[in-house]
Amino acid sequence: MSDSDKWVPYRHRQPAESPPELLVPSVMPTDERVWVPVEQNVWFRPLLMCVSRGYWCNLLRVRRSGVLSRHRHPLPVHGLVLKGEWRYLEHDWIAREGSYVYETPGETHTLVVDPHVDEMITFFQVNGAMIYVDPDGNVTGFDDVFTRLEKCRNHYAACGLGSEYIEQFIR
Ligand code: FE
Repeated sequence: MSDSDKWVPYRHRQPAESPPELLVPSVMPTDERVWVPVEQNVWFRPLLMCVSRGYWCNLLRVRRSGVLSRHRHPLPVHGLVLKGEWRYLEHDWIAREGSYVYETPGETHTLVVDPHVDEMITFFQVNGAMIYVDPDGNVTGFDDVFTRLEKCRNHYAACGLGSEYIEQFIR
């Protein structure tokens, strides 16, 4: 490659089957309605709803201490803590602001936010599903990209952004 080629963009079409790229200019929304409530004081903010591969990327926000959920992962999860901190009852570490977390396939754990934390915000890429369980591992429910999509549609329709607001995040 010659020096003059360095700043020349790729000249050809992208593959026809390649989905459109996605840029979310500001992951922290200025419009509070973008946060989808899951339960009291718990919200998620969709970034990518990848229905073609069965995963989703979102921010999770918690504004009061408590036990969030006990769940099992069939596939890996990647997490990046943007604000506050949280931990799993099954581990002795604490995920603090700036921490990266890899959650392994097959693991069951219980996410808790301790009382001294005012607000926790964490980016998660969740593959496959969150399978909610009791302390013995009996299944009590699940979430996958499709149940999350449904929650987004319902919330955005109800809050006035419009159910189609979620479409921009679907690939
Ligand atoms: Fe988890």
